[in-house]
Amino acid sequence: MAKAYTFKGLLTNNGWLENATVQLDSRGCITAIDTQANHPKAEYVNGYALPGFQNAHSHAFQYAMAGLAELHEGTGIPDDFWSWRTAMYSLALQISPNQLEAIATMLYAEMLRHGYTAVAEFHYLHHDRNGKPYNNLAELGERLVAAAQNAGIKITLVPMFYQQGGFGKPAEDKQKRFLSKTVDAYYQLLDSSQQAVLQYSHANLGMGIHSLRAVNEADIKTVCRDFQNNRPFHIHVAEQVKEIEDCLAFYGQRPVEWLLNNTPVNAHYHLVHATHLNDAEVQGIAKTQANVVLCPSTEGNLGDGLFRLADFKAHHGHWSIGTDSHVGLNPLEELRLLDYGQRLTTHKRHTFYQEGHGDSGFNAISMAWKTGRKAMGATHDAFFAVGQPLDALVMDAQAPLVACSTLKNLCNTLVYASDASNTLGTLVNGQWVVQHNQHQNGERISQGFFKALRELGVR
Ligand code: ZN
Repeated sequence: MAKAYTFKGLLTNNGWLENATVQLDSRGCITAIDTQANHPKAEYVNGYALPGFQNAHSHAFQYAMAGLAELHEGTGIPDDFWSWRTAMYSLALQISPNQLEAIATMLYAEMLRHGYTAVAEFHYLHHDRNGKPYNNLAELGERLVAAAQNAGIKITLVPMFYQQGGFGKPAEDKQKRFLSKTVDAYYQLLDSSQQAVLQYSHANLGMGIHSLRAVNEADIKTVCRDFQNNRPFHIHVAEQVKEIEDCLAFYGQRPVEWLLNNTPVNAHYHLVHATHLNDAEVQGIAKTQANVVLCPSTEGNLGDGLFRLADFKAHHGHWSIGTDSHVGLNPLEELRLLDYGQRLTTHKRHTFYQEGHGDSGFNAISMAWKTGRKAMGATHDAFFAVGQPLDALVMDAQAPLVACSTLKNLCNTLVYASDASNTLGTLVNGQWVVQHNQHQNGERISQGFFKALRELGVR
């Protein structure tokens, strides 16, 4: 036995285990879990361990502009998603590989501090500032993997196929860093990215299409036909009303409708946002067992709209959460925002109720975690189990409301009435990466981040 922890509580798929001792091997994988109080060498942790959250959607570079684009200058132009996108493009055009790595390292350290232990990086910033491929096609993907390794988070790099500027429209100059002109060019990028993820034992690869507007019809069909189900497939879909209108004008079908009719959508697909759906689309996604990735803080920030969660749930649909543009990094807050959007419109409070299971906090953690694991390309679906790495967010058992709660109310106290100040730390592979809100390499990581942001001058 290399190490052991005794937690005041450990959340399992069947509820809380009290005084649970988790024994680990030298790699931080669990070798035994028990509740017998005879482990004098175990480190006692006066906290409640949740499975590390899975962040199923991230664009790391956008962290540099989180909280910007809120100064509305009275230009007479309505500020919306598309004006935000213009600001995002100007940032994307400036960033160097070193700056990207520094920004992503800071971001991933902050994700860990809030309890995410794995991230799916939806990566479309591929080329140099002139739009020319780097000698290493996956230079920037490799920097994201290095950032994940430096911060200590697990990463699924999802290099995106991005080809054109809109439905039937050539790419704009400001999109030049994103582009793979052909399917072959995209596959070469994927091959190089495969090499990049081999450099870190906790990295793996996904694939996908940025959005229906970003790739032509024939090439979307080719990529989806070639897809082997051996990794997760991610795509942005139906986020904005204009996107629905443009898709209807071009294809005569709505985005999700077109995707369902023209590609072999299945349980390996992760549809990011899927905000604007009609009844057939809600049912269609659920029927194919495709998953939806919801990013409530970003979707709220950008004024996207509300996902039809109640209807999707009625058809047993699966969803995960992501932080997308990173205006919010707290998984508990994402779950609350998701719930409150539904409550505000339905005037009901049982968003996460499952037949026979009324514990909202537990149900939300469970769905976000299990579907999030699939978005990473992982297969196991037990929170903590022998053979799996110990990845956990540990909440402080002495936080006032937590200290007074019975186990019955604990998940809901954590999800609905806690924040990052109530955390003891985050464990990845059985090691404390963050304790008391301090990342183990916090000083060095923030220095690199400050330097990059000074150079960029965007804030
Ligand atoms: Zn996104």
